[in-house]
Amino acid sequence: MSDNVKIILAVLGILVGGGFTFSYLTSPSESEDFPDGGTWAKCNACQAMQVIDPEMRGKFYEENPNMMGRPMACPKCNKGALMDGLKCPTKGCFYTQAKQSKDGAPACPVCSSKLP
Ligand SMILES: [Zn+2]
Ligand SMILES: [Zn+2]
Repeated sequence: MSDNVKIILAVLGILVGGGFTFSYLTSPSESEDFPDGGTWAKCNACQAMQVIDPEMRGKFYEENPNMMGRPMACPKCNKGALMDGLKCPTKGCFYTQAKQSKDGAPACPVCSSKLP
């Protein structure tokens, strides 16, 4: 187990122990949509899309314990909050939840491309 994983587990333990519930902890795993273990996130201020990996996330909450339980601040503009989401592999659209196409397959809610 690497140090990074230990940090993440510690952070998650603090969050869970603090009684916070996070939808991303209970939502079904879609790990194949996460590049290199990171999570796509979009800033609600500068609209920058960026991959946040567990190491960055762990470091942020370690350095900013007062932000615990709140969205991570945008590292690009330091103003906005990051929304966790996914990236459409076809056109690179950012979305937070896939929609279902008529045949039941998951599809991008922005451009309606089929997701793998
Ligand atoms: Zn930003
Ligand atoms: Zn798309």
